[in-house]
Amino acid sequence: MPAFSRPIVSKLPCVGTTIFTVMSRLAAEHDAINLSQGFPDFDCAPELRALLVKYLNSGLNQYPPMAGIAALREAVAAKTQALYGAQYDPDQEVTIVPGATYGIFTAIATLIRPGDEVILFEPAYDSYAPSVEVNGGRPVYVQLKFPDYSIDWQEVQNAITPKTRMIVVNTPNNPTASVFSAEDLRMLEGMLKRTDIVVVSDEVYEHIVFDGHRHQSVARFPGLAERSFVVSSFGKTYHVTGWKTGYVLAPRDLTAEFRKVHQFNAFVTNGPVQYALAEYMKDRDAYLSLAAFYQKKRDFFLEGIQASRFRPLPSRGTFFQNLRYDAVSDEKDTDLAIRLTREYGVASIPVSVFYREPPAHKVLRFCFAKSEDTLARGAEILCRI
Ligand code: PMP
Ligand code: GLN
Repeated sequence: MPAFSRPIVSKLPCVGTTIFTVMSRLAAEHDAINLSQGFPDFDCAPELRALLVKYLNSGLNQYPPMAGIAALREAVAAKTQALYGAQYDPDQEVTIVPGATYGIFTAIATLIRPGDEVILFEPAYDSYAPSVEVNGGRPVYVQLKFPDYSIDWQEVQNAITPKTRMIVVNTPNNPTASVFSAEDLRMLEGMLKRTDIVVVSDEVYEHIVFDGHRHQSVARFPGLAERSFVVSSFGKTYHVTGWKTGYVLAPRDLTAEFRKVHQFNAFVTNGPVQYALAEYMKDRDAYLSLAAFYQKKRDFFLEGIQASRFRPLPSRGTFFQNLRYDAVSDEKDTDLAIRLTREYGVASIPVSVFYREPPAHKVLRFCFAKSEDTLARGAEILCRI
């Protein structure tokens, strides 16, 4: 006998298991080099691990404050001031959260009501649309222009309606590895002036911008900062994706509403991790050196695949390198990603899954947050295909 008289009506009928889980599982099954899901295959700094052990052994194992421990909120505010010239009050405008995914979801849940429209750029990181839809909102898409994934701001303007409540931006961008220019943000700032549209700015790769460019945080632009949730993650910055800790910056009124939702969802974020991160953040070099660290890996991987038939698209930030494969195969990227994992032993992410309809261009995403040995072995396989 079924438990319910009626079948469960899914709030997310079109959602399956995320591509990251699917591809990492397939890579493990086939013992393939996993360049799919974005996470480092090397460990975090021993100093950071030692700090976590220290705080685990310091009797700090009960609930920390709801908004996060003061020392970490202060460290985040100081960093934001130093890098982006923006002032956030650690008490009322900085919240520590269990990861950026949670921060994005909670910001959306805080504001989006049934029927509200949320502008997303396509390809879109996979959590955005479900987070909007489960809260009754409607995603409205604007296409990033292939091959440089630039934005036509006139199209953004055209997408704005009286129902538009929010726009989600992501720079450096996953999955395209493109970055916003200062001009992009000025366009956005001008466009949103005299509207009630709120920005959710996913900046988890804020410290991974290449070739001497600066990260364009919305926090740098007062007209945007005053209407934005800025979301970041310690996972990317300190090679600890499994620690699931991030933060959300927003003006006082937005933060107050955000915390109302947060306190009845996660309520707090892992305490010992916060103490460890707060102390580790004193070492500014750990995040300031990250771009050079990953640029070297990007270049190592690019050098390794130079003799292959894959064609790189620009990687201007993040730890992803997208490759076109027109000269290799005319398969769908989803089919090719599976075949490369099974038959050749290298796993990637098919970029079409970040679109509602597969686009005409064919691209696979490779994660280069890996040791040189892993990258060399992955590149060597790609050269044989
Ligand atoms: N946004 C983007 C663009 C990401 O790539 C990721 C993670 N890889 C996240 C959010 C989620 O970060 P977290 O693991 O802190 O939830
Ligand atoms: N953001 C990571 C990526 O793009 C994966 C995170 C996840 O598995 N949800 O690969």
